[in-house]
Amino acid sequence: MNARSIALVRTNFRSVTANPQGGTKLITSFYSHLFGKNPDFRALFPVSLHSQRERFFAAIKFVVDNLDNPARVMTFLEQLGRDHRKYGVEAGHYNAAGAALLAALREYTGDLFWTNGIDAAWREVIAMLVEAMANGAESDDLPAHWEATVVGHRRVLDNLAIIRLLSDEPIPYEAGQYLPVRIPQRPMMWRYLSPAIPSNSRCEIEFHVRKISGGWVSPSLVNETKVGDRWKLGAPLGGMRVYQDGADVLMVSSGTGLAPLRAQIMEMTFSGVNPRVHLFLGGRHPCDLYDLETMWRISQFNPWLTVVPVVEQPNDPWWYSGPSLEIPEGMEGLHIGRIGQVVTRYGAWKGHQIQVSGSPLMIRSTIAALSEVGIPPARVQHDPV
Ligand SMILES: Cc1cc2nc3c(=O)[nH]c(=O)nc-3n(C[C@H](O)[C@H](O)[C@H](O)COP(=O)(O)OP(=O)(O)OC[C@H]3O[C@@H](n4cnc5c(N)ncnc54)[C@H](O)[C@@H]3O)c2cc1C
Repeated sequence: MNARSIALVRTNFRSVTANPQGGTKLITSFYSHLFGKNPDFRALFPVSLHSQRERFFAAIKFVVDNLDNPARVMTFLEQLGRDHRKYGVEAGHYNAAGAALLAALREYTGDLFWTNGIDAAWREVIAMLVEAMANGAESDDLPAHWEATVVGHRRVLDNLAIIRLLSDEPIPYEAGQYLPVRIPQRPMMWRYLSPAIPSNSRCEIEFHVRKISGGWVSPSLVNETKVGDRWKLGAPLGGMRVYQDGADVLMVSSGTGLAPLRAQIMEMTFSGVNPRVHLFLGGRHPCDLYDLETMWRISQFNPWLTVVPVVEQPNDPWWYSGPSLEIPEGMEGLHIGRIGQVVTRYGAWKGHQIQVSGSPLMIRSTIAALSEVGIPPARVQHDPV
C-alpha cells in the first residue's frame, strides 16, 4: 500500500478510536451486516459476542497501526486465519466478512464523508485481510483442533489453578506459544492459554489459570474444572521465542504470564549452552509468586538463569493463611515496587532479547517503563494485548 492510502485509512479509523463508543458501534454494525446477509453464520459464534467484539476490534486496530510493516501484518493475519478454523470458518467466509466490514466502516463514517479515496484505500486493506486470512486457513495442514483430558487440577491460590491435561496426540506447539482452549462448561467460548511446559511426546500439557472476576470462562476454569473433563485445543499461535545464538535475555512476567516464559526456560534446560537469562517474576503480594520455588530449583542447576522476585506490597494480605515466602540462601532477594520500575532500576537492557508477559495492563506499563530508558517498544516481544 502506498503512503497516501495508509494515511487515508489511518485518518478515517482515528474517527473510530477517538470515540469511546466508536469500536463497539463499528463492530456491532459489522455483525449486523454479516448476519443480515448470511444468517447461517450466526451459529458459528458464541451466544454472547462481547469478547468477540473486543478481540475483532483489537485485530483491526493492530492491522491499521502496522500497515507500514506488511510482513508483520501478514504473519498476524495468516495466524488469525489458522486460528479461525476452530470455529468452522472456511476460506470462503472471509469474502462475506470483508464486505460486512466495508459496509460497517461506510455506515460509521457516513456517506457525506466516505470519499472515493477512502473507499479505495479500505478496499485495499480488506482485500489484503481476506487474502491473508484465507491463505492462513488453507495453508495449514495441522488439524483444526485436538482433544485432551484433564488429569489434574490444583488450586494453588484462591484465584489461581494449575491444570494438567493429556492430549490424545502430541500437540506440536513451540515453547512460548499459546493455544485456543474450549472447555465443556463453556461450549462455543474459546480462550487463549499459554502452556507452561514444552510440547512433549508424552502428550502432557500444563496451564496456569487466573480467575478474572466477572469473566465468562476463567472463573469456570478455576472453580469447576474436574479430572476427566474433555477439552478442545486449537492450533498454536504466537511467536515469542529466545534466539539461542542471540544476545542475553530479559524476561519479565507477572502472575500467570510466567507460563510461556517458564516453558521456554524449561526447553532451554535441554540445551548445553544458553544465553544468560534474567527472569523477573512479579506479583502483587509475596503469596502471588505461586511458582517461584520451581523457578528457583531450575536456576540451581542452570547457572545461566537468574530469578528476581518482585512484589508491589512487601507483606501478604490479611486474609492469606498459607506459608510465608522464605528466600533460600544464594537466591536473589525480594524487590519491592512496580515491576517495570524495578527492571529498569536493576540494570541496562539495551542489547538484550526482551520478552514481557502478563496482563494487558502490565505489558503496556512495562513497555512504557522500558521505553523511558531508551528501549524501543518494537524491540520487546509480547503476546497480543
Ligand atoms: C495470548 C494470550 C495468552 C493468554 N494466556 C493465559 C494463561 O496462560 N493463563 C491465564 O490465566 N490467562 C491467559 N490469558 C487470558 C485468557 O485468555 C482470558 O482472556 C482470561 O482468562 C479472561 O477470560 P474470561 O472469559 O474469564 O473473561 P472475559 O469474559 O473474556 O472478559 C471479562 C472482562 O475481563 C477483562 N479481562 C480479560 N482478560 C483479562 C486479564 N488478563 N486481565 C484483566 N482483565 C481481563 C476483559 O477485558 C473483560 O472486560 C491469555 C490471553 C492471551 C491474549
